[in-house]
Amino acid sequence: MQFPELRMRRLRRTKTMRRLVQEVVLTTNDLVYPLFVIPGHMQKHPIGSLKNQFHLSPDEALTVCKQVWDLGIGSVILFGLPEHKDSMGTDSHSTNGPVQQTIRLIKQQIPDMVVMTDVCLCQYTDHGHCGVLSEQSGVIRNDESLALLGQMALSHAEAGADVVAPSDMMDGRVAAIRDTLDDAGLTDVAILAYSAKFASAYYGPFREAAHSAPQSGDRKTYQMAPPNAREALREVALDIQEGADMVMVKPAMPYLDILVRMRQEFDLPLAAYNVSGEYAMLCAAADAGLIDYRQAMLESLVAIKRAGADLILTYFAIDAAKTLHQGGAFVF
Ligand SMILES: [Zn+2]
Repeated sequence: MQFPELRMRRLRRTKTMRRLVQEVVLTTNDLVYPLFVIPGHMQKHPIGSLKNQFHLSPDEALTVCKQVWDLGIGSVILFGLPEHKDSMGTDSHSTNGPVQQTIRLIKQQIPDMVVMTDVCLCQYTDHGHCGVLSEQSGVIRNDESLALLGQMALSHAEAGADVVAPSDMMDGRVAAIRDTLDDAGLTDVAILAYSAKFASAYYGPFREAAHSAPQSGDRKTYQMAPPNAREALREVALDIQEGADMVMVKPAMPYLDILVRMRQEFDLPLAAYNVSGEYAMLCAAADAGLIDYRQAMLESLVAIKRAGADLILTYFAIDAAKTLHQGGAFVF
């Protein structure tokens, strides 16, 4: 059949018809909300580079988690900012760090929430790199970093985290973390590996949020080069072999092709991190009156899901959930 018998526009004629034939549906089940936790009590400070996002002390983070849970979002991922930084990122595995405290509070008050934690040294090291740095040469010491990452993941798991998510891009970290957790009897704690994490300019606003800009050099010796797709698939395959339960691509929007290829090759759950730069650009464009915030936000998130993501880590989570709760009010 061809035009004029065939007319594609028949099924786009009304809102209800479009809703009936919609292929991909975004729900609050797909969303993970990132939180930045700081030491202290009753602290809530806006993050300049990320509109409507805050640095939160553990008690304030719990309040936000309750709102998030009531909106139907089942999961958060925690990033910590420590009191002190040093060359080895010692505070990353302190029992009473803000991340560890927040995990315990959430697990006491909202036990069914899936608590994920970012596992990386860059917020905790004075040099701002994701691994241990050799003072003399400025080279990252991959294998020495693994033990520290294992300790950090263990401290999160002991506090009650459901999922630990290594984002450092050191070789061998997933196996090291799995071994450490299993040796401690924490066999049920899952690993979400930031497997295809690209050295991206889209992380700009996050570095202010996490106070994690490297003091010298850049992250190009461990994060991936943006042009490389086949290498991304190798990274993913290795992390799966090492024991990752879920794998991630980061950033999301500029790397949807990677997500599509991952979906074709791998059957485990895929995550995509809709990063700070993607969020900040859209907010800035909406504030300038150039773009419809709600529509562009949902279009972005549904595109990430269409490409193959099962879960989406996004600063839009709260606004997206509110929009989705308006029921049939939003139809593409
Ligand atoms: Zn890092």
